[in-house]
Amino acid sequence: MTGIGQHRTCQEPVLDVERIRRDFPILQQDINGHPLVYLDNAASYQRPRQVIEAISHYYERDHANVHRGVHTLSHRATEAQERGREAARRLLNARSTREIIFTRGTTEAINLVAASLGQSLHPGDEILISHLEHHSNLVPWQLVCERTGARLVVVPIDERGELRLDEYHRLLGTRTRLVAMAHVSNALGTVNPVEEIIATARAHRVPVLIDGAQAIAHQAVDVQALACDFYAFSGHKMCGPTGIGILYGREEWLEKLPPYQGGGDMILSVSFSGTVYNDLPYRFEAGTPHVAGAVGLAAAIEYLEDLGLAGIERHETRLLAYATEAIAALPGVRIIGEARRKAGVLSFTIEGIHPHDLGTVLDHQGVAIRTGHHCAMPVMEHFGLAGTARASFAFYNTVAEIDRLVAGIGTAMRMLGA
Ligand code: PLP
Repeated sequence: MTGIGQHRTCQEPVLDVERIRRDFPILQQDINGHPLVYLDNAASYQRPRQVIEAISHYYERDHANVHRGVHTLSHRATEAQERGREAARRLLNARSTREIIFTRGTTEAINLVAASLGQSLHPGDEILISHLEHHSNLVPWQLVCERTGARLVVVPIDERGELRLDEYHRLLGTRTRLVAMAHVSNALGTVNPVEEIIATARAHRVPVLIDGAQAIAHQAVDVQALACDFYAFSGHKMCGPTGIGILYGREEWLEKLPPYQGGGDMILSVSFSGTVYNDLPYRFEAGTPHVAGAVGLAAAIEYLEDLGLAGIERHETRLLAYATEAIAALPGVRIIGEARRKAGVLSFTIEGIHPHDLGTVLDHQGVAIRTGHHCAMPVMEHFGLAGTARASFAFYNTVAEIDRLVAGIGTAMRMLGA
């Protein structure tokens, strides 16, 4: 697979999307009698053949439990698992694989930090989040606050769906113990100014966790350049398997944090009088890991690296601009989230049509979008809505597919009488 470099201008490599699409078996099918148009990528990406085959190959030839065996298959499985870790390190440009923890996904990565770091919180301490967080970067902090007496402080957003930076600067104070914010909003597509968020927090010596679930497949992420303390993402939102994700943690922080779960692999020695915990990163990985997940994650990362994240970002930016213009021009449409920096997500409502009805009519035409609150109920509340329709784009989507979406919305308007 190359996918890139088939059409080159002087500076900008352009993705060969038709060729890329042939790597995705799932995209080659009809749904309800129409060729599938998959625009639910913010919820989960589809997987290329390369990822599916890497997982099959692992199960057909290399599977055993990791780290504990002396036999060949156990060595192979261990190597496969660690290749996944190294791929994630490369993707994030982390300094060391000691800083790369396997988790079940973004949600577990955030819960890990909440559980571990939460142990040192006291009444009156503050966790600073924003109004545009996914529930995964909100509820874990509420739970910690309930347990410890710490307080959740929420930075508001404005009418465009952008973070109120003035409020962020005001609310970040001497009681703040952690800033936890999304890189990209899943409900609005807003790209947060994470560089400024992190620099400001660091000036106050406050650690920062970035929820990168929606950023990781859309743009290059460099945790050293960002200088964040934690960065979380999910494999399934970047062409990898479900049930695997990554928590990047700056080594100084991981060394300080208490273990998350207890069990096998996270220990060096155990006796009834005491247990010695393992070194990083294994101290945070109790139990048999999702080795096939790590294999698939490595394959997905290699796939994205092969395409090039700069080309991916450019392609998706064009799709978003095209879709925004076309959909905003339809009667009764309200675009929800008009931040100046957006990635891959177009949320909207149509006067007189419930988002679920729109989603159902589109599905009958083979077009998959998501409708509802997108696990971001406070965002919906901010805009006075119960939910939106959301089209979200990946590098394998095309302008022709957006035309199908727009035509489908037209059909829904006629059918549903808007
Ligand atoms: N954070 C954001 C911004 C998301 O969009 C999502 C999923 O949609 C999550 C966290 C949770 O990811 P996962 O369910 O893969 O743990």
